[in-house]
Amino acid sequence: VEHPPSILHSFLATAERDPAHPALAYFDGTVSYGELDALSDGLAAYLAGRGFAPGDRLAIMLQNVPQFVIALLAAWKAGGSVVPVNPMYKEQELAHILTDSGAVAIVCSRSAWHGRVRAAAAGTPVRIALTANEFDLQTRNDPRVLIAEPPPAEKAEKAEKAEKPVEPGATGDAGKSQQAGAEAAPEDILAAARAAAGPRPDVALPRAADPALISYTSGTTGRPKGAINTHGNISYNAHRQLRFQALPAGSVVFALAPLFHITGMVCELATALSAGHTVALAYRFEPGVVLDAFREHRPVYTVGPATAFMALLARPDATADDFASFRVISSGGAPLPPAVVESFRIRSGGHYLANGYGLTECTAPCASVPIGREAPVDPTSGTLAVGVPGPATMIRILDDSGAEVPFGESGEIAVRGPMVVPGYWNRPEESAAALPGGELLTGDIGFMDEDGWLYVVDRKKDMINASGFKVWPREVEDVLYTHPAVREAAVVGVPDSYRGESVKAYVSLRPGASADPAELIAYCKERLAAYKYPRQVEMLGDLPKTATGKILRRELKTPAG
Ligand code: ATP
Repeated sequence: VEHPPSILHSFLATAERDPAHPALAYFDGTVSYGELDALSDGLAAYLAGRGFAPGDRLAIMLQNVPQFVIALLAAWKAGGSVVPVNPMYKEQELAHILTDSGAVAIVCSRSAWHGRVRAAAAGTPVRIALTANEFDLQTRNDPRVLIAEPPPAEKAEKAEKAEKPVEPGATGDAGKSQQAGAEAAPEDILAAARAAAGPRPDVALPRAADPALISYTSGTTGRPKGAINTHGNISYNAHRQLRFQALPAGSVVFALAPLFHITGMVCELATALSAGHTVALAYRFEPGVVLDAFREHRPVYTVGPATAFMALLARPDATADDFASFRVISSGGAPLPPAVVESFRIRSGGHYLANGYGLTECTAPCASVPIGREAPVDPTSGTLAVGVPGPATMIRILDDSGAEVPFGESGEIAVRGPMVVPGYWNRPEESAAALPGGELLTGDIGFMDEDGWLYVVDRKKDMINASGFKVWPREVEDVLYTHPAVREAAVVGVPDSYRGESVKAYVSLRPGASADPAELIAYCKERLAAYKYPRQVEMLGDLPKTATGKILRRELKTPAG
């Protein structure tokens, strides 16, 4: 796939050619390519003026707001890279990421700064802090505040007085006047960008091998580690996406996934910005708000987890017309039960929900379904294929000894290609273990059929061992999803004195539907081998999910409290 060294190259070309074209749509406001270029130039100059040097890291802890994109482009223009951080992170998780990545600067919301962030940044290398204006989904205050002027001074002062001062950044180089802690009120990002307006710092444009993102992922064990997504990784995958999806020029792409997650960042934002499309943002996933945004912006493309599409369809006001503008709708980053594809087709007015497989270490997708095709379902296991590998991508299925297995047999999925990260930030040993010879061992179990379709069975670590029999939770979940009353299902292994582990399902029901545990157990028993069907079913109102909407099996295994 032809691609420039970075998506910044493509973005700058559009900004020069078509400056008035909207780059971002946010509720009823837009930011054009020219404005986004000028604001990110200003912020890059501001950062450089505060000592942010090429190679430095800027942490961005924001929801899907225009300031996220301004900060991202500014860091790249200043020669640095970005550490995307989930805004829900608590103080300790954040402190770990700031310390591990060595970020010198952070952008977050005003309230987050006065709450957790200032405290978390204490003792870390962070010495530049910027804040973004707030929009509150609960009170639905005017979302335009986010792309308008900073809040009036007296409001800001009041907010600061309410906070107990904490002294961050008091590490090694204490005494620097530029420390975040030295400022009672960090500057608003838009004010900073506008005040420093002018040419961007004279920094060479990124090269393909330069780090663009340090993306923290918890992986299987231990503390989160930062996968290094290079500019080349992102540019390749964005252009691969464009080729697979064949979007018409001037499309609107809806960012359903969070920008702080690799799916939103690459499949939605980077893909759109590298082809002059418009990215519609809606703060964070809230079904009612998202449906309104579909009606307003008429997007042609979006990517999100199956749970998000189910939540949209569960809204009583959702109609097929809300989806009418879409040309491609992809499920990404989480399992897609075949039953969900079918119910989505019926309820969305005929749309095919295309599967896609990827992980942070692959800079989002490494296999997806090309437009115009439908993924097959494996007749034996009932698993829906995730897609085919893209150009220049090699996917192998390996047994425990690292040897390739024949078609149809399951083993660990290993990926090589231009989207695979070079390693983890400052973790030579973990990098060598996960990426022997540059080939990524994904930790996922899957198989490949003779036509080249890849199937993901499950995560290696989630296998349930029931009396020595392997049970893959997804196979059981896929069956539960075919039951008409089931909205969401998650299957885990629970300790069992007789079998070692036994299969337990957690289920949430569709609004208005009813089913009891005994009925669901009987339903599975009829459709699965004796060792696979759940021995226990527990009903929950909602299943625990990550910020990206992925169902968190690990939380069900060890329920909090
Ligand atoms: P964290 O490491 O932060 O806890 P995570 O492990 O979910 O999160 P991601 O990189 O976000 O990290 O997710 C990648 C994983 O999601 C894959 O390894 C795979 O297990 C799962 N996955 C992604 N796409 C699919 C798909 N289409 N079908 C099944 N599983 C998928």
